[in-house]
Amino acid sequence: MATEWDNIIGHDWAVDVLRSAIEYDRIGQAYLITGPEQVGKTTLAVTFAQALNCQSAESTARPCGTCRSCTLIAAGRHPDVQLIEPEISSRGKASIKIETIRELQRGLQLAPYEGRYKVAIISNFDAANQNAANAFLKTLEEPPEHVILILTATEADVLLDTIRSRCRVVGIRPIPTPAIRHALTTRWGITADDADKLAHLADGRLGWAVTAATHPDLLVMRQTQLATLQEILAGNRVARFQSADQLAGKPESLPVLLQLWISWWRDVLLLATGDQSDALTNIDYLGQLATLAHRLTPDEALIALNATKNALWQLERNANTRLVLENLFLKWPNATEIVLG
Ligand SMILES: [Zn+2]
Repeated sequence: MATEWDNIIGHDWAVDVLRSAIEYDRIGQAYLITGPEQVGKTTLAVTFAQALNCQSAESTARPCGTCRSCTLIAAGRHPDVQLIEPEISSRGKASIKIETIRELQRGLQLAPYEGRYKVAIISNFDAANQNAANAFLKTLEEPPEHVILILTATEADVLLDTIRSRCRVVGIRPIPTPAIRHALTTRWGITADDADKLAHLADGRLGWAVTAATHPDLLVMRQTQLATLQEILAGNRVARFQSADQLAGKPESLPVLLQLWISWWRDVLLLATGDQSDALTNIDYLGQLATLAHRLTPDEALIALNATKNALWQLERNANTRLVLENLFLKWPNATEIVLG
């Protein structure tokens, strides 16, 4: 039977876990969905909320996507389903505040208004500060009856042990390039050529690909971010410190920036080791990637890749932004002749 689950692309395992929990009436009270940015965590959580409250008589037909409950949830207007997303401060820092958690908790004390369950989805729970996380712990320890809590985060291990251990963890992975390409052409009507390019650049993030298809500014931003990388590679020590200082002033941009740079160095490594496979992400920069890969040994490419991954890891754990970037840029090779177009 066709359900809204069929619209979830590339996460069959996670869908099976959540769907069978409902089918066999073994629903947990708290879930933690983990996976990279824009890979579909919140979509999965919302679909689960629909399945929990769908009014279709047949449990295997849930979520039907057409009943009052499914429609209201999809529109973000169901009285019993709340989606909380981090606030972004004027300095660009994402946070979930303790007041937000307290307000949510007051609402959860009330019985469902019209649904089977009250569902609270908290996106990017990693943005909750210590106070907010601790306040939320009380709800996780003793959730009111009829309450289902769904948290999402990039990784389980950035959360407090006490939070993680009370949730059923559902990990989702980047979506393979062919699955993104297929979804873009069949569901979003994007031409084969554009779909192919976007599917590669998406690096496993269907959400990014769909957004980029309708917002060309995302692609322009990506070019700027790769130009920044080129400037740093061409720069001396002093110039690199200046770049670190400038970028540290825009902490909100760093997760996306570092993810892109990780994909860049992974491509360089693939080419440096002679792998010409379909696995390349930044296919529109093949010339520059190949030039860089030719100049570096696989070991040098690997050092740059690992240093970039490590920098992202440290920033997610609130290390000093400027120091992390300075250390990173000193580990990158010099490459003055690589001019990105
Ligand atoms: Zn329904």
